[in-house]
Amino acid sequence: MAPAPAPLRTARRAVVTGGAGFVGSHLCDRLRAADTEVVCLDNLLTGSLDNLADRADDPGFTFRHHDVCEPFDVTGPVDLVVHLASPASPHDYARHPVETLRAGAHGTLNALELAHRKGARFLLTSTSEVYGDPLVHPQPETYWGNVNPIGPRSQYDEAKRYAEALTTAYRTARGTDTVIVRLFNTYGPRMRPTDGRAVPAFITQALTGRPLTVAGDGSQTRSLCHVDDTVGGILAAAAAGHPGPVNLGNPAELSILQLAHRIRDLCGSASPVEFVERPGDDPSLRRPDITLARTALGWQPAVDTDRGLAQTIDWFARHLVGARG
Ligand code: NAD
Ligand code: UDP
Repeated sequence: MAPAPAPLRTARRAVVTGGAGFVGSHLCDRLRAADTEVVCLDNLLTGSLDNLADRADDPGFTFRHHDVCEPFDVTGPVDLVVHLASPASPHDYARHPVETLRAGAHGTLNALELAHRKGARFLLTSTSEVYGDPLVHPQPETYWGNVNPIGPRSQYDEAKRYAEALTTAYRTARGTDTVIVRLFNTYGPRMRPTDGRAVPAFITQALTGRPLTVAGDGSQTRSLCHVDDTVGGILAAAAAGHPGPVNLGNPAELSILQLAHRIRDLCGSASPVEFVERPGDDPSLRRPDITLARTALGWQPAVDTDRGLAQTIDWFARHLVGARG
């Protein structure tokens, strides 16, 4: 499924925080495929070493169990630091609000300090959540967002907004080479079935014949990007000179009810849809404007939603439902 790895112009040795997570583990795999040595730092708060099973005997890969909110150093040269460490699903950041704010604040500071000391390029994985419940649609990078600073998603949204501001300050005041990417909803193999996000929830429900829990009337929209595309965009941003922020996402927009039906059909499931209460401050619309990614990075998503969902369903069926049954 993965397109050819983006050519990394400079990175011979990369530090990846949050590399045992969903997106981070795919990034580690792709960096290693491009022959970049990788040091991964992760405290396994929401990640798992299972995601790094393919790296177990890889001499070019090092795993360090570390909370990036505590300062850290890495011996030897580093030319790329990718900071992903943070809970990312609404379910996870609701359970870990203080940890999420600390990862955005202290974790970003420590990762920036490392990049600054090493003269490395620093890449922050920010999020479409900085746009909050957007009043502009689709969302371009120039939109400042509509975020509730004390709402149920604020620990995540404001942590990322602070992380963006801190990254910008290091760039302007200290001359650190930085880039901010704003990831939109990403899906694919290695999502946790219990992380509460729509894609793993609907797939596990459909595969086990349980009702698909659609929040509200399901008219809210999301735009789903396959993880291979998202990682391709991260690598393109790492290799380019652009500071961002740049949106990385797939503009193919679906209502959540359409997504539930699509997943149910692809699973060949007879699960009914059950409408459940919609969480507070749940964004109503989300679709990236990716003009900048196309022009500045030469990147755009390649994986068609049905094909990506079918591949993800197949992975869930083999790794999770199959393992239980
Ligand atoms: P994930 O929860 O699977 O991965 C996050 C990883 O960070 C986990 O392995 C976790 O253990 C680790 N971590 C958390 N706090 C840490 C700390 N203090 N020290 C060390 N490690 C820590 O989430 P994901 O979906 O892979 O998201 C990765 C990044 O991408 C996050 O920064 C997230 O905000 C961003 N992002 C993801 C999406 C998406 O749709 N997946 C969308 C927008 C942004
Ligand atoms: N959602 C849903 N049922 C679920 C999980 C999520 O209807 O079991 C909805 C959720 O309310 C939101 C959308 O699906 O409107 C996307 O949620 P997700 O947690 O996947 O991502 P995010 O809200 O972070 O974009």
